[in-house]
Amino acid sequence: MTESSIDPAIMQRLKQSAPEICYSQSHTVSCDGGGGALGHPRVYYTIGTQGFVECGYCDRAFVLDAARDGRCESTGE
Ligand SMILES: [Zn+2]
Repeated sequence: MTESSIDPAIMQRLKQSAPEICYSQSHTVSCDGGGGALGHPRVYYTIGTQGFVECGYCDRAFVLDAARDGRCESTGE
């Protein structure tokens, strides 16, 4: 898989609900909130068939996207 297969409608919702969207080529992601105000204990998530997962601590969204692996972008919220 080289292209993001996430539903555009879901992507739009994530951009409204998540403070930051991070991309990963792996189905297994970890999040510690990046330190600072959003920091929290490191937790691991598995990206499911919908192609994304949201962190229960800091609301960051992780999207399966090999082309943008490792990148995070602020949604400006
Ligand atoms: Zn988090």
